[in-house]
Amino acid sequence: MQFFTHRALPLMLALALWPAAHVQAQSVSAPQADAASTHVNMSAQRVSKLAWYVEGLSAMGSSANQNFISNAGFVITPAGVVVMDALGSPALAEQLLAEIRKLTPLPVTHVIVTHYHADHIYGLQTFKAQGARIVAHGAAREYLQSDTARLRMESSRQELFPWIDENTRLVPADQWINGPTELTVGCVRFMLQPVGPSHTPEDLVIYLPQDKVLFAGDLVFRNRIPYVGQADSDHWIQALERLLTFDTAVVVPGHGPLSNEATNDMALTRDYLVYLRRSMAEAAKNMEPFDAAYDAADWSRFERLPLFRAVNRMNAYNTYLLMEREVK
Ligand SMILES: [Zn+2]
Repeated sequence: MQFFTHRALPLMLALALWPAAHVQAQSVSAPQADAASTHVNMSAQRVSKLAWYVEGLSAMGSSANQNFISNAGFVITPAGVVVMDALGSPALAEQLLAEIRKLTPLPVTHVIVTHYHADHIYGLQTFKAQGARIVAHGAAREYLQSDTARLRMESSRQELFPWIDENTRLVPADQWINGPTELTVGCVRFMLQPVGPSHTPEDLVIYLPQDKVLFAGDLVFRNRIPYVGQADSDHWIQALERLLTFDTAVVVPGHGPLSNEATNDMALTRDYLVYLRRSMAEAAKNMEPFDAAYDAADWSRFERLPLFRAVNRMNAYNTYLLMEREVK
């Protein structure tokens, strides 16, 4: 155990300097049994000695892909399996469980939630039913009780039917954490670090010191344009700067393939956020209209990334609104 402790020291130092995290419905037809027999392509890939992950598609969520658009990770310890994120539907979570069962008969003891966006948590009820303990950051409680979460679920029941239906529900954590937390399962240590408000108020990253693996949640997107939404991009950039100081061999991003080049990949997400802010800040300050600012910006560095057309304009608009608020 001493061995892990000294390896984790740079992380702990980085974390000690970290600011405290801030708190923050239906369809008919299409019999579920038929649809549920269709599987998406999912196969667990090895990350390190103990860690594995499955990689979601670089796409928007749809009935056709069962909402398999985000990654989930898992670590096999001698005492059970710890899962990072639960995927975007209960059916996907079942498939993830089947992948885990190919590797070990041990039960899933914990699911650690990196944040409560739909594509990462709609599978939680499957793990909960198996007896897993759900662990997440306390800032998500506000979201879970919000109209936004309820309305999102209602529209998902339409858009993602039959994978999301009236039986799909939002599952709160069994253990809410509010600061850096260590979890030890079967002598394997997991360091849970709040990094919100960034992508969401409740962002958590999970560091596995034994293998130097960082499960970065949606702080890191690869091979696609990040989804910015209501993110606090200023804190997000600062969080990435911190993550860049970790002693990391492999990063498992929230979306996209594994990274052995943590620095480059985190830097791309960071540079994108920095550019969004820079290009929109000037316009917001001068009260220039958004459309003109958007057209004047040079997107050439990012426009070849997948989902640029789907999300860049919305990201820029959300950032423009954020910049207006920050200027005031
Ligand atoms: Zn996501």
